[in-house]
Amino acid sequence: MKKNDLATVRIADIGVNGEGIGKVDGYTLFIKDAIIGDIVEAKVMKAKKNYGYARMMRIAEASPDRVEPRCPEARRCGGCQIQEMAYEKQLAFKNQKVKNNLMRIGEVPQELLDEIMEPICGMEEPFRYRNKAQFPIGRDRDGRIIAGFYAGRTHQIIPCDDCVLGVKQNQVILNTIIAFMEENHIEPYDEENHRGLVRHVLIRYGYTTKEIMVCLVINGKVLPHAERLIKELAEIPGMTSITLSPNSEKTNVIMGRTIQSLWGRDFIIDYIGNVKYQISPLSFYQVNPVQTLKLYGTALEYADLHGEETVWDVYCGIGTISLFLAQKAGRVYGVEIVPQAIDDAKRNAELNGITNAEFFVGEAERVLPDYYAEYEKNHPGQQARADVIVVDPPRKGCEESVLETMVKMRPERIVYVSCDSATLARDVKYLIRNGYELQRVRACDMFPHTGHVETVCLLSRK
Ligand code: SAH
Repeated sequence: MKKNDLATVRIADIGVNGEGIGKVDGYTLFIKDAIIGDIVEAKVMKAKKNYGYARMMRIAEASPDRVEPRCPEARRCGGCQIQEMAYEKQLAFKNQKVKNNLMRIGEVPQELLDEIMEPICGMEEPFRYRNKAQFPIGRDRDGRIIAGFYAGRTHQIIPCDDCVLGVKQNQVILNTIIAFMEENHIEPYDEENHRGLVRHVLIRYGYTTKEIMVCLVINGKVLPHAERLIKELAEIPGMTSITLSPNSEKTNVIMGRTIQSLWGRDFIIDYIGNVKYQISPLSFYQVNPVQTLKLYGTALEYADLHGEETVWDVYCGIGTISLFLAQKAGRVYGVEIVPQAIDDAKRNAELNGITNAEFFVGEAERVLPDYYAEYEKNHPGQQARADVIVVDPPRKGCEESVLETMVKMRPERIVYVSCDSATLARDVKYLIRNGYELQRVRACDMFPHTGHVETVCLLSRK
């Protein structure tokens, strides 16, 4: 096929980014917004030798799984990829994706997976789950100030102040800020000429505490008439923190490096289960608190702690899992590459009165092997051991040196939390070959309407 060719395609699969995949005479086409079961007319936009990308022109026959998206902008927005697919089907697709990867890449027999895989953990209400939103501010063609999102792969702002994945409160906050800007002649930022002041608005909402944080990212140092905006925003129920983040760089990075307090505290508090977290505008924090509790609850259940165990939490981030585990373990060691995340982890440990957690900054592939070697040196004839090791690596999975050291530490149980089931499967294969047995698997839907899926696996020492 070549550019501008037209084709009728039956969609048979979903790609990693949520796009539909179908074949025409053996040639594979990736078609955004088409879902499994659709028959669509598509126009080839880009053609490679064996595959190409096509635009959906018309749905010739809609899939029985197709639903009316709740958001009118679902197609244009880069945020959701599969909102047009019935939620039950999204879950089935994600579960199958995990299973397929474990079979094909992990070489785990299907019969075993049929037996041990637990049902995917979905959401009862898969909308309004995000506790964080970042809206770019700009002007529409008529010159009105707007908040919205970038149209997929561009920096054109599509007005939308009520994303259906975010909380209802976002809308009133954005409208308050826009009205303040119009009345006080405060310019939105214009990327083209690097002029204007207000770039983005970050809003965070504590689902448990109902505390709200608003942070304006500005191309400058001061917000003129800030007191007028503060007066309006402070009246919104739950408002806890109003801050500025100066960012005058020509960059795609949204947040500036620092935070300036305008009103209230410069952080909010929220809970996952009974662990309390202090969240600043720059902190990392899981965006779906309802599912985070279920995901980490599953990890904790798989870890099966009784109070005495030595546990490692590798790739620990701000220590969400570590602090969860610390309540049931003897001692927890967290490892993380980002120093600020470790600062947050330590502060959150203190906030919760947790004294049996210790954190190391560094690459897991250095920290873990170094710890092992050091221990051997200081304790002749002995080896560093762990009872349980939890890993929650980024998409690329664990480096082999990490897996190797994990195996040497001979934990009874390894709990693998993963955001990419392909690298998970690769690492599971390594662990199975090195004395571990796959015992439990559960997928978890942290990001409904997107192509992502998280998985928790329990591996036990044979
Ligand atoms: N469980 C964590 C999130 C884990 S996400 C939480 O809930 O906060 C993966 C983490 O691995 C990120 O925080 C990332 O900064 C960290 N990371 C990435 N590469 C790493 C490496 N080579 N060594 C250690 N940590 C790494």
